[in-house]
Amino acid sequence: MRVLLFHWRRRNHALDSSPRAGDSMPIVVSAWLARCRQRLGDRLFTIDDARARVHGWQITPIEGGLGRRYRERRFDSLATCQACNGHGGRQDALCQPCLGSGRVIVQHPHQEG
Ligand SMILES: [Zn+2]
Repeated sequence: MRVLLFHWRRRNHALDSSPRAGDSMPIVVSAWLARCRQRLGDRLFTIDDARARVHGWQITPIEGGLGRRYRERRFDSLATCQACNGHGGRQDALCQPCLGSGRVIVQHPHQEG
């Protein structure tokens, strides 16, 4: 990468000594590398992304496209149980609103509005 930039700057400097012409190349190379990373990530995670779409999971590319974060949207509908403050009650007396989980469902994820 550094070698490529060095050659571009040196060649470009010989043709045009204005600083603007040489400054645009790192942006072009950076955009090209970003697209390459994104395409590589899309290929690497093709099967996983398809599986996530089947389940309706949220897909977030990370690490410049070379990683993925998958998230079940139903987690958005969970909230801390106010009756037990998220503790679930005691072992002999579980909290009734959350049945001991400490979480309650506030809205079904497929219900809108
Ligand atoms: Zn509770």
